[in-house]
Amino acid sequence: MKAVYFNRHGGPEVLEYGDLPDPEPGPGEVLVRLRAAALNHVDLWVRVGWPGLDLRMPHVPGSDGAGEVVGIGDDVEGLSVGDRVVVDGNLSCGECVFCRAGQDHLCLKWHLLGETVSGTDCELIALPRRNLYRFPETLGYGEAAAAALVFLTAWHSLITRGRLTAGETVLVIGASGGVNTASIQVAKLAGARVFVVGSDAHKLELADQLGADVLINRSTERDWSRAVYMATEKRGVDVVVDNVGRPTMASSMRSVRKGGRILTVGNTGGAHYEIDHRYLFAKHISIIGSSMGPRSDFDQVMALVVGGRLHPVIDESFPLEEARRAHERLGAGHQMGKIVLEI
Ligand code: ZN
Repeated sequence: MKAVYFNRHGGPEVLEYGDLPDPEPGPGEVLVRLRAAALNHVDLWVRVGWPGLDLRMPHVPGSDGAGEVVGIGDDVEGLSVGDRVVVDGNLSCGECVFCRAGQDHLCLKWHLLGETVSGTDCELIALPRRNLYRFPETLGYGEAAAAALVFLTAWHSLITRGRLTAGETVLVIGASGGVNTASIQVAKLAGARVFVVGSDAHKLELADQLGADVLINRSTERDWSRAVYMATEKRGVDVVVDNVGRPTMASSMRSVRKGGRILTVGNTGGAHYEIDHRYLFAKHISIIGSSMGPRSDFDQVMALVVGGRLHPVIDESFPLEEARRAHERLGAGHQMGKIVLEI
């Protein structure tokens, strides 16, 4: 099969396009002919590598994918050859105490597809049946791949972990990334009033199209936490979605109301930072982290995507062999929504 892979860590130039052996489905597994994959920031971090990351090379990146079933292993029920499926990138053991309790995202042997295990930037992949969700022809392969990880992440963070309810105010830091475009939509669907802080007017236009109620442009509004404070009658928002980290967390703590929640699923702006600890207790702030979500959340949110209630925002599609250009585009940070690879 054709695949995108790397044999050493580094910049986009380490990505190669060539032939790898076809996988075979084992017991409980399904062979999928992938038609689309989508990029996530984790693809860039894995390509660059970090201390302690020990991958089996060549490594195929990619946590998101969609395609059709072309082979079925033993002991697989509920899927047939020809079915259209989208991948849930949570790789869980299915046996530990968390998996048995339906919390497969907390699995003791958890892996993210494409991170520590070879992923979806290829033509064929063998995956456990429980990692596949069947969807109808009304949804395209590119849309399905673009939706999976970010909508699962946003849904689990805002709804399951954040317990967002109708009438609450939500501030999303960042207007155009994959998770943020999903978070704006999930928050609107939940009946929240959504504030978005964006880096420029162009990116805020996208947030506006997605239904955001209050737009704050940080290129003209230097102290955006003050703008949030004033726009909420000096109360602060109920919930802040901060997936940036280092440059924004102090302002997020100023923007949230007393007793509010700060939700985080990532740190595109840097992992290490100082916080003023006094805010935490004096303002009764809860900081709630999560990463991906359980299969039950995946089923729930993908049904809303299939039903047209949530819409993946696609920035640009590249053919699989141009994965290097796709990585460069994501690395530059100019994308509006998801970057898709057509396979
Ligand atoms: Zn498990």
